[in-house]
Amino acid sequence: MKALDELTFDNRFARLGDAFSTHVLPEPLDEPRLVVASDAAMALLDLDPTVAETPVFAELFGGHKLWAEAEPRAMVYSGHQFGSYNPQLGDGRGLLLGEVYNAVGEHWDLHLKGAGQTPYSRMGDGRAVLRSSIREFLASEALHALGIPSSRALCVIGSSTPVWREKQERGAMVLRLARSHIRFGHFEYFYYTKKPEQQAELAEHVLNLHYPECREQPEPYLAMFREIVERNAELIAKWQAYGFCHGVMNTDNMSILGITFDFGPFAFLDDFDAHFICNHSDHEGRYSFSNQVPIGQWNLSALAQALTPFISVDALKEALGLYLPLYQAHYLDLMRRRLGLTTAEDDDQKLVERLLKLMQNSGVDYTLFFRRLGDESAALAVTRLRDDFVDRAGFDAWAELYKARVERDGDGTEEQRRARMHAVNPLYILRNYLAQNAITAAESGDYSEVRRLHEVLSKPFEEQAGMEQYAQRPPDWGKHLEISCSS
Ligand code: AMP
Ligand code: MG
Repeated sequence: MKALDELTFDNRFARLGDAFSTHVLPEPLDEPRLVVASDAAMALLDLDPTVAETPVFAELFGGHKLWAEAEPRAMVYSGHQFGSYNPQLGDGRGLLLGEVYNAVGEHWDLHLKGAGQTPYSRMGDGRAVLRSSIREFLASEALHALGIPSSRALCVIGSSTPVWREKQERGAMVLRLARSHIRFGHFEYFYYTKKPEQQAELAEHVLNLHYPECREQPEPYLAMFREIVERNAELIAKWQAYGFCHGVMNTDNMSILGITFDFGPFAFLDDFDAHFICNHSDHEGRYSFSNQVPIGQWNLSALAQALTPFISVDALKEALGLYLPLYQAHYLDLMRRRLGLTTAEDDDQKLVERLLKLMQNSGVDYTLFFRRLGDESAALAVTRLRDDFVDRAGFDAWAELYKARVERDGDGTEEQRRARMHAVNPLYILRNYLAQNAITAAESGDYSEVRRLHEVLSKPFEEQAGMEQYAQRPPDWGKHLEISCSS
C-alpha cells in the first residue's frame, strides 16, 4: 500500500509533445472536500484507502496541489458530434495529470475533470458541477462492477465554487482513471488537419502501449483497427444486454480501448423500451437505446476514414464487416446467460426478441424481470411474473416456449439455476432516481447517500441485507426524470 506522495509517474502521452497536448495548470476549487472515493479504484494505484480522508487528498484532487512528477496537459482532439464534424474539440475542462504505474506494472491515466479552462474550452467555463461529477463517479464504478468495460473513478471532490448552469450550482472535480484517454476523435483531428506525421506518431503510440500483440501481425495497423472493432462490438453488446444507454455517442466520446467513456445524460433502462432516448437534446433519437448498435458501426466507420492514410479501404471495409456479426454473437451469448441457458439453439434469438417485445408492450422492469426469473424454477418463476404483463396470453405462449427450452437445456437443480442466473442478473442497478436522491442529499452537504449507493452498486449481483429499497422499481416521479445535458 502506498501513501499519496509515493505514486510513481511515467508520462508517456505528455512526452509526445505540444502537437498533442498543451501544458495547463488546474484551477483550484474553493474549500475542497471529499464527497466520495472508490476503494476499488484506489487499489488500482496501490493507494491505501484511508488516505482519502486526509486533507491533502481533497487538495490534490481539488486542484490545489500537484505531485512534482505530474505534468498536467489538455489533449487536443476533434470528432463527429450528432453526425457532424466538429474540427476543434479537446479537453475543455479536464486535464491529464499524468500516468501512474502500479506494482503490477499497469499504467493508469489520472484525468481531473472540472479543472478549469484550457485552450480548448471554447465558450465553456472549464468547470463540472457536483451533480454530473457524482453521476460519472457512480456510473463508472457501477458499470465496472457489472463487468462492463468502463473508465474508472477514483473520487469526487466538492467545493463552494459557484458554477452557473440553468441555475447556480457548485463546482466539483472527478478524478477519472483509464488505461488511455485516446478517443476516435484524436485520430480524426490529425487526419482532418492533414498532419500525417503526427497521426503516425499517435498510431505508433497506441500500437506500442495498448496493442503490442498487433505488432506481430503482417499489417499491425489493420490488426489494431480490427481489435478496436471487436472490442466495441463486445462493449455495445454488453450495454444492450444490461440496458445501458450512453446518450452521447459522439466520436470524441468513443475510446480506442473499447471502454465506456465520457458520461453525460446516460441512463439504465427501468422499464424495457427499445426506443428510449436518455438525452433530451437528442430530438431525433440518434442515440436512442436501440440505435446504439448501428451508431457503434457508424463511429467505427468515422475512425476507419481517419485511418485511410495507413490502411487500404478494402481492408478497412472488411474489418468493419466484423462488427455486426460479432455484436450479435456477444449479445445473444449474454442474453442466453441472462435466461439461464447454457447451450445454444438456432431459435434463441427469436425467443429473446419475443420476450423483449412483450416487455416493451407492458413496460416491464428490465432488471427485475431477469433477476426474478432466476429466483426459482422456470415453471414457478413464469407463473409469478405473468402478472407484470398486460398481454397475458402472449406471455403464457412465450412461457411455454421458455419452459420447453429450459427443459432441453437441462436446468440442474433449482439452487444451481439460481446461482447461475443471479451471477449474471444484477439486483441493483444505477437507476436515475437513485442517483437523483443521492445528488439532492449531496447538494445539501450530506454525502452519506452517495457513499451508500456506491457501496450497494459495487456488488450488484449480491443480495445485501437492509438494502431492499435499492432493488425496487422506481416511483412514478423517478420514471420521468429529465436529466439535464448541461454538466
Ligand atoms: P462533452 O459533452 O462533455 O463530451 O464535451 C464536449 C466538448 O465540450 C469537449 O471538448 C469538452 O471538453 C467541452 N466542454 C464541455 N463542457 C465544458 C465546459 N464547462 N467548459 C469547457 N469545455 C467544456
Ligand atoms: Mg466528451
